[in-house]
Amino acid sequence: ERRVLWFRRDLRLLDHPALLAAAADGAEVIPLYVLDERLISPAGPNRVAWVMASVKALADDLAEHGVTLVVRHGDPAKVLPELVEETGASEVHISSDHGPYGRERDDRVRSALGDVPLIETGSPYAVTPGRLATGDGTAYQVFSPYYRAWVAHGWRDPAESDPKKVSWASAPSEELPEVELPEGVRLEPGEAAARRHWADALDRVADYATARDRPDLDATSRISPYLKVGALHPRTVLADLAGHEGAEPFQRELAFRDFYADVLHHRPETAREYARPELRGLPYVTGDALLEHLDAWREGRTGFPLVDAGMRQLLAEGWMHNRVRMLVASFLVKDLGVEWTHGARHFMRHLIDGDLASNQHGWQWAAGSGTDAAPYFRVFNPTTQARKFDPDGTYIRRWIPELRDLSGKAIHEPWTAPDGLPEGYPEPIVDHAEARATTLEAYYALRDR
Ligand code: FAD
Repeated sequence: ERRVLWFRRDLRLLDHPALLAAAADGAEVIPLYVLDERLISPAGPNRVAWVMASVKALADDLAEHGVTLVVRHGDPAKVLPELVEETGASEVHISSDHGPYGRERDDRVRSALGDVPLIETGSPYAVTPGRLATGDGTAYQVFSPYYRAWVAHGWRDPAESDPKKVSWASAPSEELPEVELPEGVRLEPGEAAARRHWADALDRVADYATARDRPDLDATSRISPYLKVGALHPRTVLADLAGHEGAEPFQRELAFRDFYADVLHHRPETAREYARPELRGLPYVTGDALLEHLDAWREGRTGFPLVDAGMRQLLAEGWMHNRVRMLVASFLVKDLGVEWTHGARHFMRHLIDGDLASNQHGWQWAAGSGTDAAPYFRVFNPTTQARKFDPDGTYIRRWIPELRDLSGKAIHEPWTAPDGLPEGYPEPIVDHAEARATTLEAYYALRDR
Protein backbone atom coordinates (compact mmCIF):
# COMPACT_ATOMS: atom_id res chain seq x y z
CA GLU A 1 0.00 0.00 0.00
CA ARG A 2 1.20 3.52 -0.83
CA ARG A 3 0.15 6.77 0.77
CA VAL A 4 1.01 10.39 0.04
CA LEU A 5 2.23 12.66 2.85
CA TRP A 6 1.59 16.22 1.72
CA PHE A 7 3.84 18.65 3.65
CA ARG A 8 2.58 22.21 4.22
CA ARG A 9 3.28 23.97 7.53
CA ASP A 10 4.94 20.86 8.97
CA LEU A 11 8.36 20.81 7.30
CA ARG A 12 9.99 18.31 9.65
CA LEU A 13 10.31 14.56 10.21
CA LEU A 14 10.43 14.30 14.02
CA ASP A 15 7.41 14.78 16.30
CA HIS A 16 5.19 14.46 13.22
CA PRO A 17 1.81 12.79 13.90
CA ALA A 18 0.75 12.83 10.23
CA LEU A 19 3.96 11.02 9.25
CA LEU A 20 3.23 8.36 11.89
CA ALA A 21 -0.30 7.97 10.54
CA ALA A 22 0.86 7.78 6.91
CA ALA A 23 3.51 5.16 7.73
CA ALA A 24 1.23 2.99 9.90
CA ASP A 25 0.79 -0.69 8.92
CA GLY A 26 4.08 -0.58 6.99
CA ALA A 27 2.59 1.48 4.12
CA GLU A 28 5.03 3.16 1.73
CA VAL A 29 5.09 6.94 2.11
CA ILE A 30 5.50 9.35 -0.82
CA PRO A 31 6.56 12.82 0.48
CA LEU A 32 5.10 15.73 -1.47
CA TYR A 33 5.42 19.52 -1.45
CA VAL A 34 3.20 21.66 -3.71
CA LEU A 35 4.38 25.08 -4.85
CA ASP A 36 1.10 26.96 -4.81
CA GLU A 37 1.20 30.41 -6.46
CA ARG A 38 -1.64 31.61 -4.26
CA LEU A 39 0.69 31.36 -1.26
CA ILE A 40 3.87 32.53 -2.93
CA SER A 41 2.80 35.61 -4.90
CA PRO A 42 1.89 37.93 -1.96
CA ALA A 43 5.18 37.21 -0.17
CA GLY A 44 8.29 39.39 -0.35
CA PRO A 45 11.82 38.13 -1.07
CA ASN A 46 12.88 37.27 2.52
CA ARG A 47 9.70 35.39 3.15
CA VAL A 48 9.79 33.40 -0.10
CA ALA A 49 13.46 32.60 0.49
CA TRP A 50 12.80 31.39 4.04
CA VAL A 51 10.01 29.03 2.96
CA MET A 52 11.97 27.73 -0.03
CA ALA A 53 15.13 27.23 2.04
CA SER A 54 13.06 25.34 4.62
CA VAL A 55 11.58 23.09 1.91
CA LYS A 56 15.08 22.53 0.52
CA ALA A 57 16.34 21.54 3.99
CA LEU A 58 13.47 19.02 4.26
CA ALA A 59 14.37 17.65 0.83
CA ASP A 60 18.00 17.27 1.97
CA ASP A 61 16.92 15.44 5.13
CA LEU A 62 14.72 13.11 3.07
CA ALA A 63 17.62 12.50 0.66
CA GLU A 64 19.60 11.17 3.62
CA HIS A 65 16.87 8.59 4.03
CA GLY A 66 17.26 7.72 0.38
CA VAL A 67 14.12 9.36 -0.97
CA THR A 68 13.38 12.32 -3.22
CA LEU A 69 10.84 14.89 -2.00
CA VAL A 70 8.29 15.14 -4.80
CA VAL A 71 7.90 18.81 -5.72
CA ARG A 72 5.07 19.87 -8.02
CA HIS A 73 3.90 23.32 -9.13
CA GLY A 74 0.25 24.18 -9.40
CA ASP A 75 -3.16 24.10 -7.80
CA PRO A 76 -3.21 21.37 -5.12
CA ALA A 77 -6.72 20.38 -6.22
CA LYS A 78 -5.15 19.32 -9.55
CA VAL A 79 -1.74 18.14 -8.31
CA LEU A 80 -3.01 15.72 -5.66
CA PRO A 81 -5.45 13.73 -7.83
CA GLU A 82 -2.76 13.49 -10.56
CA LEU A 83 -0.14 12.17 -8.15
CA VAL A 84 -2.60 9.69 -6.64
CA GLU A 85 -3.47 8.45 -10.13
CA GLU A 86 0.21 8.12 -11.12
CA THR A 87 1.30 6.27 -8.00
CA GLY A 88 -1.82 4.30 -7.10
CA ALA A 89 -1.77 5.83 -3.61
CA SER A 90 -4.77 4.90 -1.47
CA GLU A 91 -4.70 7.80 1.02
CA VAL A 92 -3.39 11.36 1.35
CA HIS A 93 -2.15 12.45 4.79
CA ILE A 94 -1.86 16.00 6.11
CA SER A 95 -1.52 18.05 9.29
CA SER A 96 -4.63 20.22 9.55
CA ASP A 97 -4.59 23.86 8.43
CA HIS A 98 -6.89 26.40 10.06
CA GLY A 99 -6.42 29.56 8.01
CA PRO A 100 -9.27 30.68 5.72
CA TYR A 101 -7.38 29.87 2.51
CA GLY A 102 -6.03 26.57 3.84
CA ARG A 103 -9.48 25.34 4.83
CA GLU A 104 -11.04 26.30 1.53
CA ARG A 105 -8.14 24.67 -0.37
CA ASP A 106 -8.36 21.47 1.68
CA ASP A 107 -12.12 21.23 1.03
CA ARG A 108 -11.44 21.54 -2.71
CA VAL A 109 -8.68 18.93 -2.56
CA ARG A 110 -10.92 16.59 -0.57
CA SER A 111 -13.66 16.71 -3.17
CA ALA A 112 -11.19 16.48 -6.06
CA LEU A 113 -9.76 13.30 -4.53
CA GLY A 114 -13.15 11.55 -4.59
CA ASP A 115 -12.86 8.13 -2.98
CA VAL A 116 -9.27 8.61 -1.83
CA PRO A 117 -9.46 10.03 1.69
CA LEU A 118 -7.63 13.16 2.82
CA ILE A 119 -6.69 12.29 6.40
CA GLU A 120 -5.80 14.99 8.96
CA THR A 121 -3.62 14.06 11.92
CA GLY A 122 -2.25 16.76 14.21
CA SER A 123 -2.10 20.51 13.62
CA PRO A 124 0.60 23.20 13.84
CA TYR A 125 -0.59 24.03 17.38
CA ALA A 126 -0.25 22.59 20.90
CA VAL A 127 -4.05 22.66 21.22
CA THR A 128 -5.85 22.37 17.89
CA PRO A 129 -7.98 25.43 17.02
CA GLY A 130 -11.66 24.82 17.68
CA ARG A 131 -10.99 22.38 20.51
CA LEU A 132 -11.64 24.72 23.47
CA ALA A 133 -14.95 26.40 24.20
CA THR A 134 -16.36 28.54 27.02
CA GLY A 135 -18.97 27.24 29.48
CA ASP A 136 -21.80 28.17 27.11
CA GLY A 137 -20.11 26.45 24.18
CA THR A 138 -18.93 29.57 22.34
CA ALA A 139 -15.37 30.45 21.33
CA TYR A 140 -13.10 32.40 23.68
CA GLN A 141 -12.80 36.11 22.97
CA VAL A 142 -10.39 36.98 25.76
CA PHE A 143 -6.94 35.54 26.31
CA SER A 144 -6.80 34.99 30.12
CA PRO A 145 -9.72 32.55 30.35
CA TYR A 146 -8.52 30.90 27.14
CA TYR A 147 -5.12 30.42 28.73
CA ARG A 148 -6.61 28.80 31.84
CA ALA A 149 -8.61 26.41 29.66
CA TRP A 150 -5.54 25.75 27.49
CA VAL A 151 -3.41 24.78 30.49
CA ALA A 152 -6.23 22.64 31.94
CA HIS A 153 -6.71 20.88 28.59
CA GLY A 154 -2.97 20.19 28.24
CA TRP A 155 -1.24 18.83 25.16
CA ARG A 156 0.11 15.54 23.91
CA ASP A 157 3.65 14.32 24.30
CA PRO A 158 5.80 14.64 21.17
CA ALA A 159 4.88 12.07 18.51
CA GLU A 160 7.52 9.39 18.07
CA SER A 161 7.86 9.55 14.33
CA ASP A 162 11.11 8.00 13.13
CA PRO A 163 12.07 8.68 9.51
CA LYS A 164 14.55 5.77 9.59
CA LYS A 165 11.73 3.30 10.12
CA VAL A 166 9.57 4.57 7.25
CA SER A 167 9.42 2.75 3.89
CA TRP A 168 9.77 5.76 1.66
CA ALA A 169 8.71 5.83 -1.98
CA SER A 170 8.89 8.55 -4.61
CA ALA A 171 7.63 9.80 -7.97
CA PRO A 172 9.00 12.16 -10.64
CA SER A 173 9.72 15.60 -9.18
CA GLU A 174 10.06 19.10 -10.56
CA GLU A 175 12.97 21.30 -9.51
CA LEU A 176 12.72 23.50 -6.46
CA PRO A 177 13.42 27.12 -7.42
CA GLU A 178 16.99 28.13 -6.56
CA VAL A 179 16.77 30.83 -3.93
CA GLU A 180 19.49 32.22 -1.79
CA LEU A 181 18.67 33.17 1.76
CA PRO A 182 19.38 36.91 2.04
CA GLU A 183 22.31 37.74 4.31
CA GLY A 184 20.09 39.62 6.74
CA VAL A 185 18.10 36.51 7.63
CA ARG A 186 20.25 35.33 10.45
CA LEU A 187 18.68 31.90 10.92
CA GLU A 188 19.75 28.63 9.39
CA PRO A 189 16.81 26.80 7.82
CA GLY A 190 15.75 23.22 8.53
CA GLU A 191 14.74 20.92 11.34
CA ALA A 192 18.21 20.19 12.76
CA ALA A 193 19.05 23.91 12.84
CA ALA A 194 15.68 24.64 14.47
CA ARG A 195 16.41 22.18 17.25
CA ARG A 196 19.90 23.55 17.83
CA HIS A 197 18.54 27.09 17.85
CA TRP A 198 15.79 26.17 20.31
CA ALA A 199 18.24 24.32 22.64
CA ASP A 200 20.25 27.52 22.77
CA ALA A 201 17.18 29.64 23.54
CA LEU A 202 16.10 27.18 26.23
CA ASP A 203 19.40 27.78 28.03
CA ARG A 204 18.43 31.46 28.32
CA VAL A 205 14.76 31.02 29.21
CA ALA A 206 15.27 31.88 32.92
CA ASP A 207 15.92 35.51 31.87
CA TYR A 208 12.98 35.63 29.47
CA ALA A 209 10.42 37.21 31.80
CA THR A 210 12.64 40.14 32.75
CA ALA A 211 14.40 40.73 29.43
CA ARG A 212 11.79 39.89 26.79
CA ASP A 213 10.66 43.48 26.31
CA ARG A 214 14.15 44.77 25.58
CA PRO A 215 14.97 44.79 21.86
CA ASP A 216 18.56 45.81 22.66
CA LEU A 217 19.16 42.59 24.60
CA ASP A 218 17.85 40.18 21.95
CA ALA A 219 16.48 38.08 24.80
CA THR A 220 13.56 36.38 23.05
CA SER A 221 13.86 32.95 21.45
CA ARG A 222 13.39 33.83 17.75
CA ILE A 223 11.76 30.48 17.20
CA SER A 224 8.77 32.05 15.42
CA PRO A 225 10.17 31.51 11.88
CA TYR A 226 10.71 27.81 12.67
CA LEU A 227 7.23 27.46 14.18
CA LYS A 228 5.82 29.16 11.09
CA VAL A 229 7.10 26.53 8.67
CA GLY A 230 6.76 23.72 11.21
CA ALA A 231 10.49 22.90 11.36
CA LEU A 232 9.76 22.90 15.08
CA HIS A 233 6.43 22.02 16.74
CA PRO A 234 5.19 23.86 19.87
CA ARG A 235 4.61 20.46 21.50
CA THR A 236 8.36 19.75 21.29
CA VAL A 237 9.00 23.18 22.80
CA LEU A 238 6.51 22.65 25.65
CA ALA A 239 7.94 19.22 26.46
CA ASP A 240 11.46 20.68 26.64
CA LEU A 241 10.29 23.60 28.81
CA ALA A 242 8.81 21.39 31.53
CA GLY A 243 10.65 21.89 34.79
CA HIS A 244 12.79 24.80 33.54
CA GLU A 245 13.01 27.96 35.60
CA GLY A 246 11.13 30.67 33.73
CA ALA A 247 9.05 28.18 31.74
CA GLU A 248 5.65 29.63 32.57
CA PRO A 249 5.97 33.12 31.06
CA PHE A 250 7.34 31.55 27.89
CA GLN A 251 4.57 28.96 27.75
CA ARG A 252 2.03 31.76 28.09
CA GLU A 253 3.37 33.42 24.94
CA LEU A 254 3.15 30.15 23.05
CA ALA A 255 -0.49 30.00 24.14
CA PHE A 256 -1.05 33.37 22.44
CA ARG A 257 -0.17 31.74 19.15
CA ASP A 258 -2.82 29.07 19.76
CA PHE A 259 -5.35 31.65 20.97
CA TYR A 260 -5.11 33.76 17.83
CA ALA A 261 -5.35 30.67 15.63
CA ASP A 262 -8.47 29.71 17.57
CA VAL A 263 -10.03 33.16 17.05
CA LEU A 264 -9.29 32.98 13.32
CA HIS A 265 -10.68 29.45 13.14
CA HIS A 266 -14.00 30.59 14.59
CA ARG A 267 -14.09 33.98 12.87
CA PRO A 268 -12.20 33.74 9.57
CA GLU A 269 -13.47 37.20 8.58
CA THR A 270 -11.23 38.77 11.28
CA ALA A 271 -8.31 38.29 8.89
CA ARG A 272 -9.65 41.38 7.10
CA GLU A 273 -12.48 42.87 9.11
CA TYR A 274 -12.57 44.58 12.48
CA ALA A 275 -13.29 42.08 15.23
CA ARG A 276 -15.03 45.03 16.94
CA PRO A 277 -17.01 46.62 14.10
CA GLU A 278 -17.87 49.74 16.14
CA LEU A 279 -14.39 51.04 15.28
CA ARG A 280 -15.01 50.83 11.56
CA GLY A 281 -15.93 54.48 11.13
CA LEU A 282 -12.65 56.08 12.22
CA PRO A 283 -11.49 58.81 9.84
CA TYR A 284 -8.17 57.68 8.36
CA VAL A 285 -5.88 59.71 6.14
CA THR A 286 -6.36 59.28 2.39
CA GLY A 287 -4.78 60.32 -0.90
CA ASP A 288 -1.27 61.80 -0.85
CA ALA A 289 -1.08 61.91 2.96
CA LEU A 290 -1.74 58.19 3.08
CA LEU A 291 1.04 57.43 0.61
CA GLU A 292 3.46 59.80 2.29
CA HIS A 293 2.83 58.37 5.76
CA LEU A 294 2.87 54.79 4.61
CA ASP A 295 6.12 55.19 2.65
CA ALA A 296 7.92 56.92 5.52
CA TRP A 297 6.79 54.20 7.91
CA ARG A 298 7.70 51.32 5.60
CA GLU A 299 11.15 52.71 4.92
CA GLY A 300 11.93 53.66 8.53
CA ARG A 301 11.97 57.44 7.93
CA THR A 302 9.36 58.74 10.38
CA GLY A 303 11.88 60.65 12.50
CA PHE A 304 11.06 58.57 15.60
CA PRO A 305 14.16 56.43 16.25
CA LEU A 306 12.64 53.30 17.79
CA VAL A 307 9.91 53.13 15.15
CA ASP A 308 12.44 53.57 12.36
CA ALA A 309 14.85 51.03 13.85
CA GLY A 310 12.07 48.42 13.96
CA MET A 311 10.95 49.07 10.40
CA ARG A 312 14.52 48.78 9.14
CA GLN A 313 15.05 45.56 11.11
CA LEU A 314 11.94 44.14 9.39
CA LEU A 315 13.28 44.89 5.91
CA ALA A 316 16.76 43.59 6.68
CA GLU A 317 16.04 40.50 8.76
CA GLY A 318 12.43 39.65 7.95
CA TRP A 319 11.80 39.73 11.69
CA MET A 320 11.10 42.37 14.32
CA HIS A 321 11.16 42.33 18.10
CA ASN A 322 7.67 41.99 19.66
CA ARG A 323 7.80 45.18 21.72
CA VAL A 324 8.76 47.11 18.61
CA ARG A 325 6.02 45.41 16.53
CA MET A 326 3.51 46.71 19.09
CA LEU A 327 4.97 50.19 18.93
CA VAL A 328 5.22 50.52 15.14
CA ALA A 329 1.68 49.19 14.78
CA SER A 330 0.25 51.63 17.30
CA PHE A 331 2.26 54.42 15.66
CA LEU A 332 0.98 53.70 12.15
CA VAL A 333 -2.65 53.61 13.24
CA LYS A 334 -2.81 56.22 15.97
CA ASP A 335 -0.05 58.69 15.09
CA LEU A 336 -0.08 58.44 11.31
CA GLY A 337 -3.82 57.79 10.94
CA VAL A 338 -3.39 54.80 8.63
CA GLU A 339 -5.80 51.87 8.81
CA TRP A 340 -4.26 48.71 10.33
CA THR A 341 -4.88 46.60 7.24
CA HIS A 342 -2.15 48.52 5.33
CA GLY A 343 0.38 47.77 8.04
CA ALA A 344 -0.67 44.15 8.38
CA ARG A 345 -0.14 43.64 4.63
CA HIS A 346 3.38 45.09 4.79
CA PHE A 347 4.20 42.81 7.75
CA MET A 348 2.84 39.72 5.97
CA ARG A 349 4.95 40.53 2.95
CA HIS A 350 8.19 40.82 4.85
CA LEU A 351 8.04 38.78 8.06
CA ILE A 352 9.62 35.35 7.72
CA ASP A 353 7.38 34.30 10.62
CA GLY A 354 4.39 36.00 8.93
CA ASP A 355 1.35 34.12 10.15
CA LEU A 356 -2.15 35.30 9.32
CA ALA A 357 -3.62 34.58 12.76
CA SER A 358 -0.84 36.10 14.91
CA ASN A 359 -0.27 38.98 12.52
CA GLN A 360 -3.82 40.15 11.86
CA HIS A 361 -4.76 39.79 15.51
CA GLY A 362 -1.52 41.41 16.67
CA TRP A 363 -2.52 44.33 14.47
CA GLN A 364 -6.10 44.36 15.67
CA TRP A 365 -4.76 44.34 19.23
CA ALA A 366 -2.62 47.40 18.53
CA ALA A 367 -5.39 49.13 16.60
CA GLY A 368 -7.83 48.55 19.46
CA SER A 369 -10.26 46.61 17.28
CA GLY A 370 -9.43 43.00 18.29
CA THR A 371 -11.57 40.69 20.39
CA ASP A 372 -9.09 41.15 23.25
CA ALA A 373 -7.38 44.40 22.34
CA ALA A 374 -5.46 47.21 23.96
CA PRO A 375 -8.03 49.87 24.85
CA TYR A 376 -8.30 52.27 21.96
CA PHE A 377 -7.41 55.27 24.10
CA ARG A 378 -4.04 53.75 24.98
CA VAL A 379 -1.59 55.39 22.59
CA PHE A 380 2.07 54.42 22.86
CA ASN A 381 4.44 57.34 23.13
CA PRO A 382 7.29 56.47 20.74
CA THR A 383 9.88 58.45 22.72
CA THR A 384 8.95 57.15 26.17
CA GLN A 385 8.87 53.59 24.82
CA ALA A 386 12.36 54.06 23.41
CA ARG A 387 13.72 55.43 26.69
CA LYS A 388 12.20 52.58 28.61
CA PHE A 389 12.95 49.60 26.40
CA ASP A 390 16.15 50.67 24.62
CA PRO A 391 17.60 52.79 27.43
CA ASP A 392 21.11 53.20 25.99
CA GLY A 393 19.94 53.36 22.38
CA THR A 394 21.91 50.22 21.45
CA TYR A 395 19.11 48.85 19.28
CA ILE A 396 18.53 52.23 17.63
CA ARG A 397 22.23 52.59 16.79
CA ARG A 398 22.32 49.06 15.37
CA TRP A 399 19.64 49.89 12.78
CA ILE A 400 20.07 53.62 12.13
CA PRO A 401 23.62 54.44 11.09
CA GLU A 402 22.75 58.16 10.79
CA LEU A 403 22.25 58.26 14.58
CA ARG A 404 25.31 56.26 15.62
CA ASP A 405 27.26 59.23 16.91
CA LEU A 406 24.50 60.60 19.11
CA SER A 407 24.78 60.15 22.84
CA GLY A 408 22.67 60.78 25.92
CA LYS A 409 19.12 62.01 25.56
CA ALA A 410 19.56 62.84 21.85
CA ILE A 411 19.57 59.19 20.79
CA HIS A 412 15.87 59.05 21.73
CA GLU A 413 15.10 62.60 20.57
CA PRO A 414 17.52 63.41 17.75
CA TRP A 415 15.74 66.71 17.07
CA THR A 416 17.25 67.94 20.39
CA ALA A 417 20.86 67.07 19.42
CA PRO A 418 23.19 69.99 20.33
CA ASP A 419 24.67 70.07 16.80
CA GLY A 420 21.28 69.74 15.16
CA LEU A 421 19.62 66.77 13.52
CA PRO A 422 22.27 64.41 12.03
CA GLU A 423 22.53 64.58 8.25
CA GLY A 424 20.23 62.22 6.41
CA TYR A 425 17.86 61.64 9.33
CA PRO A 426 14.39 63.23 9.02
CA GLU A 427 12.48 65.57 11.31
CA PRO A 428 9.56 63.85 13.07
CA ILE A 429 6.82 63.35 10.48
CA VAL A 430 4.10 64.28 13.00
CA ASP A 431 3.86 65.95 16.38
CA HIS A 432 3.08 63.05 18.71
CA ALA A 433 1.03 65.05 21.24
CA GLU A 434 -1.08 66.64 18.49
CA ALA A 435 -1.57 63.36 16.63
CA ARG A 436 -2.63 61.65 19.85
CA ALA A 437 -5.17 64.36 20.63
CA THR A 438 -6.68 64.25 17.12
CA THR A 439 -6.94 60.46 17.21
CA LEU A 440 -8.60 60.38 20.61
CA GLU A 441 -11.04 63.09 19.61
CA ALA A 442 -12.10 61.08 16.55
CA TYR A 443 -12.43 57.97 18.68
CA TYR A 444 -14.63 59.59 21.32
CA ALA A 445 -16.80 61.20 18.65
CA LEU A 446 -17.34 57.78 17.09
CA ARG A 447 -18.02 56.10 20.41
CA ASP A 448 -20.55 58.71 21.53
CA ARG A 449 -22.33 58.83 18.19
P1 FAD B 1 9.31 34.81 21.97
O1 FAD B 1 9.10 36.00 22.80
O2 FAD B 1 10.55 34.03 22.19
O3 FAD B 1 8.03 33.89 22.12
C1 FAD B 1 8.03 32.50 21.81
C2 FAD B 1 6.91 32.19 20.86
O4 FAD B 1 5.64 32.52 21.43
C3 FAD B 1 6.96 32.98 19.57
O5 FAD B 1 7.85 32.39 18.64
C4 FAD B 1 5.51 32.93 19.11
O6 FAD B 1 5.21 31.72 18.47
C5 FAD B 1 4.75 32.99 20.41
N1 FAD B 1 4.36 34.39 20.69
C6 FAD B 1 5.03 35.29 21.43
N2 FAD B 1 4.34 36.44 21.50
C7 FAD B 1 3.24 36.28 20.76
C8 FAD B 1 2.13 37.10 20.42
N3 FAD B 1 2.01 38.35 20.89
N4 FAD B 1 1.18 36.61 19.61
C9 FAD B 1 1.27 35.35 19.12
N5 FAD B 1 2.28 34.51 19.42
C10 FAD B 1 3.25 34.96 20.22
N6 FAD B 1 4.00 36.42 15.51
C11 FAD B 1 4.15 35.52 14.51
O7 FAD B 1 4.57 34.38 14.73
N7 FAD B 1 3.84 35.87 13.21
C12 FAD B 1 3.37 37.11 12.90
O8 FAD B 1 3.09 37.37 11.71
C13 FAD B 1 3.24 38.08 13.94
N8 FAD B 1 2.83 39.34 13.67
C14 FAD B 1 2.68 40.24 14.69
C15 FAD B 1 2.22 41.54 14.41
C16 FAD B 1 2.05 42.47 15.43
C17 FAD B 1 1.55 43.85 15.11
C18 FAD B 1 2.37 42.11 16.76
C19 FAD B 1 2.21 43.10 17.87
C20 FAD B 1 2.81 40.83 17.05
C21 FAD B 1 2.98 39.88 16.03
N9 FAD B 1 3.45 38.56 16.30
C22 FAD B 1 3.57 37.67 15.27
C23 FAD B 1 3.70 38.12 17.68
C24 FAD B 1 5.14 38.28 18.19
O9 FAD B 1 5.61 39.56 17.92
C25 FAD B 1 6.10 37.24 17.60
O10 FAD B 1 5.57 35.95 17.72
C26 FAD B 1 7.44 37.27 18.32
O11 FAD B 1 8.03 38.54 18.22
C27 FAD B 1 8.37 36.22 17.71
O12 FAD B 1 9.66 36.31 18.25
P2 FAD B 1 10.22 35.19 19.22
O13 FAD B 1 10.09 33.85 18.59
O14 FAD B 1 11.58 35.63 19.63
O15 FAD B 1 9.21 35.30 20.44
